[in-house]
Amino acid sequence: MPHGLFMLDADNRILVANRRACELLNLGDRERLKDCHLDAVLRYGVRHTFLEQDQAKQVLKQLDQLMQGMQSRALIPFSDDLFLEFSASRRASGGIVLIFEDVTARVRAEKKILQMVRFDTLTGLPNRDYFGELVSNALVDQNRTGLTGFMVLDVAEFKHVNDTRGHVVGDRLLCAISERLKKVTGDKAIAARLMGDEFVLFFSSESNRRVLEERMRAVHAQMRGIYLASGFTFNISMSAGYVIVDSTDFRLEDMQIKADLALFESKSRERGSCTAFEAEMDANYLDRQKLKTDLREAIETGGLSVAYQPMFLADGSRIECCEALARWTHRERGPVPPDVFIQLAEEIGVVSNITKFMLRQACIDCLKWPKHIAVSVNLSVLDLRNGEIIPIVTDILSETGLEPCRLHLEVTESCLMEEAAKVQTILQELRARGITIAIDDFGTGYSSLSYLDALPLDIIKIDRSFVRNIREDARRFKLLRGMVNLSRELGLKIVIEGVETNDQLALINQYKCADLIQGYVFAAPMPSLAIESLSDTLLKKLSVPKRRNRRTA
Ligand code: C2E
Ligand code: CA
Ligand code: CA
Repeated sequence: MPHGLFMLDADNRILVANRRACELLNLGDRERLKDCHLDAVLRYGVRHTFLEQDQAKQVLKQLDQLMQGMQSRALIPFSDDLFLEFSASRRASGGIVLIFEDVTARVRAEKKILQMVRFDTLTGLPNRDYFGELVSNALVDQNRTGLTGFMVLDVAEFKHVNDTRGHVVGDRLLCAISERLKKVTGDKAIAARLMGDEFVLFFSSESNRRVLEERMRAVHAQMRGIYLASGFTFNISMSAGYVIVDSTDFRLEDMQIKADLALFESKSRERGSCTAFEAEMDANYLDRQKLKTDLREAIETGGLSVAYQPMFLADGSRIECCEALARWTHRERGPVPPDVFIQLAEEIGVVSNITKFMLRQACIDCLKWPKHIAVSVNLSVLDLRNGEIIPIVTDILSETGLEPCRLHLEVTESCLMEEAAKVQTILQELRARGITIAIDDFGTGYSSLSYLDALPLDIIKIDRSFVRNIREDARRFKLLRGMVNLSRELGLKIVIEGVETNDQLALINQYKCADLIQGYVFAAPMPSLAIESLSDTLLKKLSVPKRRNRRTA
């Protein structure tokens, strides 16, 4: 029989004990047990030190409840290496049969599963759910008295570590950070990793706000500094946001939003800083939420429009292409800048609707312009997450009848960094259909140069930040020329963005930096109709010297 068995009489004296029972409880010869009281058996356990005194009492209590029928089974830990599960059944004669088995393996497996369910496998810190559980327990333990603090920590520039050193090193760095976090917080706070490079901390049992604030700021300060991971040294700073409330007002979800708002403030203020939540941040948050709702409605009801900014030949004589720029005029707030509402659209997952609208309108408008003018549409990072953009573009082209060679698509460096191989395939497919691909805002992302060669690109649009001070900042201009030379070597066409003054234009042209120029010096964004008339004017200007040339020839 694999189970241990005791048959007891009405006074809990052992009538029968099987061999397995003696083995499991380490009781020696079973004949000796006959007529012994169950208490005596446990006392024997204490004497032979496989049970502590208190433990024996506990075991007896549990067995007692079992035998009285208060519970059907009892799981009893005898040591870390022995868990026995007992069940009892009453005999007609008044005694009891106790049956028990070794469930140590099952208990261990359950523990392991629980560990996996509760803790982040990479860092061993509690995960989101378990963190919530620990926090509610802590709040109950302290009877919801005093103040509590909640803090979010975000590793600054962590993506850069992943991009430059790879995910394995990134993971090791996260482990090193988690180890330090465990040490720094000890039992002063509950720490967890939420996702990626974001950590949360819960502080409780403090009556003085200033003291609590100092405790939290001290943790933030101790977390930054030098870390070693996979043989590399990293100087890490962490941005933090925190909120302090009365324990009675603590709602985890609420705290998370508030600490995130404070974190957002830290990030926009200064990398690695630590900011307390303030009520007005909430107002900003609500404001953004409202703007998101309005944006969703504007997209659905055709509230967006398109402006076009021409890209000219470097001498300004001709428009080659026009960039389609999204416009939204809010009924109360007036025009909302596109970088603002595009980001909102990305956050609420509707940016691909904007892209579709822009693509369709751009193709329709382009057909009204002279044949040599192309149109360029911006794609969002999210448009390139999957291959759906390919049929979207193809359908819109065939639906509107625009030749693919007149459509350009602009992608930013951040699009290319995400999942380089996937994005590369998508761009190749689009290019194979005759569409021109431009890389936008070039020079503002990381490790840009190494990507240039590998990607299927036709045009490079150098960001306007390289143009701003070219007169005053010789190094910046050198950098610009370096990028231009490299791009030419790679056979890319060069657009320089944001040229505002004649001075800048002259310098750019003196060194023949640009194939095309886009900037206020020639034209700001304008409606589609204005493009037609501007192009007309330019062509008329051009045709005068041309005719004269023909005559002389
Ligand atoms: P971008 O793609 O770099 O677009 C060029 C921006 O530079 C436009 O701002 C344009 O008005 C501005 N600009 C043009 N010439 C000059 C100049 O000489 N000096 C200065 N300082 N600025 C100049 P806009 O229209 O506000 O667009 C801002 C950004 O919003 C765009 O930057 C682009 O990233 C995004 N965006 C606009 N429309 C769309 C769209 O339909 N889809 C996506 N995904 N993003 C869009
Ligand atoms: Ca652009
Ligand atoms: Ca740009």
